[in-house]
Amino acid sequence: MTQHDPIDAAATALAGARRLLVLSGAGISAESGIPTFREAQTGLWARFSPQDLATPEAFAAQPERVLGWYRWRRALIARGGVNPGHEAIAALERHLPVVVATQNVDGLHAAAGSRDIAELHGNIWRDRCPNCGHETVLPVAEPDENAPFSRCPQCRALTRPGVVWFGEMLPVAALERAQVELEHCDCVLVVGTSNQVYPAAALVEQAVAGPATVIEVNPQPTAVSGAVDIRIAERASRALPAVVRALDEAPTAR
Ligand SMILES: [Zn+2]
Repeated sequence: MTQHDPIDAAATALAGARRLLVLSGAGISAESGIPTFREAQTGLWARFSPQDLATPEAFAAQPERVLGWYRWRRALIARGGVNPGHEAIAALERHLPVVVATQNVDGLHAAAGSRDIAELHGNIWRDRCPNCGHETVLPVAEPDENAPFSRCPQCRALTRPGVVWFGEMLPVAALERAQVELEHCDCVLVVGTSNQVYPAAALVEQAVAGPATVIEVNPQPTAVSGAVDIRIAERASRALPAVVRALDEAPTAR
């Protein structure tokens, strides 16, 4: 690669690619002002441990506390909303097939318009009945603080957020989707992940070891920064719109 500008290099790589896998993590949502799980533990939530708020046992023992926590986090996400990084990833679909495998539960890739998403840790807007499995998709909007907690329309049990709690298995279908796409894509875009948390870390390591061109967008260096093909040391909300612009202007090679 002789191009010095990593934005141009990324646009060139994407212009020549057939399929793209995006691996995204907390960093891209942080740019919307959305706090991580632990950062959101402020005020009355600060005195609880994560195990008090995000385990099946906590939900069984204190469902209203757990549901209150998720109502609070949904409000933070709805206020933050999508940012130009999410929008740029959705815009890449104008150029090539894109699968987004994300560790984020906030649903913002879908809200930005991405259509093929593997949610490795679930989705906070997809409510699930712990009793009969019935699912309800909620709108990405600030919840009514005073409304009663949702009940399953089929069996009347209190419903839970469709996220992966501590001690729970990751969703097999989403993991397999990411794995299969990793084997078939020829370009991987790694955005806002520290590359330290399973399973994304393993997927990124595999991508770096494989033949696909790996592009990393992260202002902070990560465990794989030295090994990727193209590294853009910038925030996603700045870097990715620039990549899309460069790609829009590039002559089509295909
Ligand atoms: Zn039910």
